[in-house]
Parts: sequence; C-alpha cells; structure tokens
Amino acid sequence: MSEIDLDQRTAVITGASRGIGAAIAEYAVKVGMRIGVCARSESALAGSDRVVSARLDVVDEDALEAFAKQVESSFGAIDLWINNAGVLSPIAPIRNVSTAEFRTHVDINLTGVFIGTRIYLGHRRRHGGGGVLINISSGAASNPYAGWGAYCASKAGVERLTEVVALEERSSGLRAYSVAPGVVDTDMQSLIRDCSPDRFPKVADFVEMKKENRFNSGEYVARQLLALAFDPARATDEVAIRFADESEQA
Ligand code: NAP
Repeated sequence: MSEIDLDQRTAVITGASRGIGAAIAEYAVKVGMRIGVCARSESALAGSDRVVSARLDVVDEDALEAFAKQVESSFGAIDLWINNAGVLSPIAPIRNVSTAEFRTHVDINLTGVFIGTRIYLGHRRRHGGGGVLINISSGAASNPYAGWGAYCASKAGVERLTEVVALEERSSGLRAYSVAPGVVDTDMQSLIRDCSPDRFPKVADFVEMKKENRFNSGEYVARQLLALAFDPARATDEVAIRFADESEQA
C-alpha cells in the first residue's frame, strides 16, 4: 500500500466525529489525503488544512447534498465515499421496541446510507463515472443477535443495497463494497457492555472481549479500507467484505 500515492485523493467520511469514522479521517489526513467529514457533532479535525467539516444529520438530504458540493468545490471529484455513520440503539427484544424507535434507527442506518449513496452516485456520474463507495455494515448483517433486531435488519439492508448498487453501477466504473470492520472499541462497544443480559443476552462475551483486549484498532480498519479502495492488488469482485481480526494479520 505504501507505493500507492494517496496525496491527490479525496474521501468523504460520514459519522467522523468519533469512533471508527474519526480514526479513518485521522489516518487519511496523516497519509496526505483531502477529506470531507460530517456528523451531528464537530470533528476534532475541523479547521485543519485539507479538511472540509460539517455538522449535520445524515437523514437530512439537503444538508448532506450541500456538504458534498462544498467538498467538491474545495477539492474536486470525490474518489472515495464512506457511509460510516450509524447507531446501535434500540437494544431490546423486538417485543419491547416501539415503532418510533425502529423508524428512527432505520432512518439513520439504512435511509441515511441510501441518501449518501444516491448523492455519491450522482456526483460520480457528473464526473464521468468511476469512484469507490464503501458502506460500513457489520457481522450483524449476516448473523442474528437477540436484542439487536433493528441493527441486524438495518445492516442486512445496507449489505443488500450495496450489492444492488455494485451491479447497477459496474458499467460506469464505480466499485461498491459493504464492509464489516470487525470489533473496534468505540462508544458503541461501551454501550453494548453497559447492557443488562435481559436486553442483550450476549453481553458477557463483549465484556470478556474487553478484558482480553480483542479488538481491531481504528487505524487498522482505516488502512484496510484505503487499501480496498486504492490498492490494485486488493481489487476484488466481492462486494460484502469482512475484515479479518487484526491479531491474525501479524
Ligand atoms: P460510534 O463510536 O458510536 O460513532 C458513530 C459515529 O456516527 C459518530 O461520529 C456519530 O456522530 C455518527 N452518527 C450517528 N448518527 C448520526 C447521524 N444521524 N448523522 C450523522 N452522524 C451520525 O460508533 P462506531 O463504533 O465508530 O461505529 C461506526 C460504524 O461502524 C457504524 O456504522 C457501526 O454500525 C459500524 N460498526 C461498528 C463496530 C464496532 O465494533 N465498533 C462493528 C461493526 C460495525 P454524532 O453522534 O456526533 O452524530
């Protein structure tokens, strides 16, 4: 990957105020990229050179569209767009999840990804095609977890949506991936560990994981994502990608 020149590349990362998104943004700036970052709260990189930052909710299509235009007018064509923003709540058995909670969740995790995807597809077509779209999914896209009904449903939706986009846009030169990044110790993981077993029966496994520090680092996820996007040696026709555990990659 070191031989790939990332200097002239531009990426957008949604949900970049903390956690995995912030780690991707930090790494991308470190390797010389120009980035657009957004979230409802401010990014620590706001105001830095080579960073366009916006506070917005990914369900707000007009705000996301205006942000994309701002990134474009600052840096030109966007080479990589990562729909990373996501939530886990509500964590509870489906019988205890209200319709309003379910709708809010799906709005952010699935409709938000749809909106970001749609904006990026339009952007790339205006620039003659090509580009790389990465939608962050989860192992929960293909495995049911009691207590995570909304999350499993939304992430499965993200994965299938991405597979359809990959098919539809292949002739335009766009590559689309849904990526399960592995377990990363972010606020989302703290939220999981704070659950009672009646809300999330597998909580003890995640507490154990913390004790043994069995996580992928944010920087590892960032390096893998940029390699998938820009390293020709990593090119693949697979759309649903699961990153290996960092500990197995030594
Ligand atoms: P996190 O620490 O909770 O961070 C989530 C990020 O998304 C924050 O920057 C948050 O910023 C932003 N966000 C949430 N809702 C948003 C909205 N409506 N509009 C704009 N931004 C929003 O979570 P994370 O662990 O980094 O997760 C990032 C992604 O990876 C998610 O899609 C998650 O499902 C996925 N994932 C995580 C893990 C893991 O182990 N951590 C594993 C598999 C998949 P604001 O609150 O400031 O808006």
